[in-house]
Amino acid sequence: MLSYQHAYHAGNFADVHKHLTLYAVVDHLLRKKSSITYIDTHAGRGLYPLAAAETARLQEYQQGVARPWAKRTGLSKASSLLGDWLAAVGEVQQGGGLDHYPGSPWWLSHRLREQDRLRLFELHPGEHGHLADQALPEAVKRIQGDGLAGLLKALPVKTPRLCVLIDPSYERKAEYDEVADTVLSAMRKARHAVVMIWYPMLPAGRHQALLEGLRDGGLRKIWCSELTLGDPGEGHGMYGSGILVVNPPWGLDERIHEAMAALLPLWGPTARHRGDWWVGE
Ligand code: SAM
Repeated sequence: MLSYQHAYHAGNFADVHKHLTLYAVVDHLLRKKSSITYIDTHAGRGLYPLAAAETARLQEYQQGVARPWAKRTGLSKASSLLGDWLAAVGEVQQGGGLDHYPGSPWWLSHRLREQDRLRLFELHPGEHGHLADQALPEAVKRIQGDGLAGLLKALPVKTPRLCVLIDPSYERKAEYDEVADTVLSAMRKARHAVVMIWYPMLPAGRHQALLEGLRDGGLRKIWCSELTLGDPGEGHGMYGSGILVVNPPWGLDERIHEAMAALLPLWGPTARHRGDWWVGE
């Protein structure tokens, strides 16, 4: 039984880290004309009104997107990536201030070109219902179903390039292994795919199973970006956000480093970012 709803967490610090990285990856891929299939295995609702009861309850966006949003003029000067990303956040606002936060379906669809394709998987009927209500380009396919199985079934894709986002809720411990197994199988069918995998950093450290599973499975070229707000021992909640990028576009690391260096002061003196190879070439 699925209970996770991303609306409770929309726009939090992990979303900023994840969607900024996603934006940068897509931005790099768009430098070439050849067509891309995007697959979002765990799509969520697509767009989150911050005044919705679920989001307003915890207001995690206050510690997340609201901070860079408030400082957007200065941050745009420090990092062009941050400037572009914050301008994109601005595109979904409907009033004078910050009132919506875009989820991964929006980030993947808003720059979709005529030659590109996007498949969104969402298993939860309620979440899929919200996703189905979103105004998205016609080329976007929304599928109610299991995203990991859906990804493997979709391979090989017809376009020369493939970009995948895997962003589960990790409600079940087994999901870390399932994600690793799926990525290893997918990479056998699509060697050049750019695959992003998000994971939460929790005191139990279960994300290590995912990282080690990919490394021990023989996968190469895995870049890892981790944003931590504090130490694991300081509480029971999520203390950091991690993203793996398999086959990262050239130059991605520098752009993310620059953007994260500008963002870190917004989260205080204990905030850290590290970005380096988990497994090199
Ligand atoms: N990717 C979204 C974003 O960045 O805006 C957030 C996704 S949220 C972390 C995870 C979503 O995966 C939830 O909406 C949940 O209902 C959905 N989900 C859980 N298990 C799934 C599965 N096996 N296949 C597809 N979706 C699933």
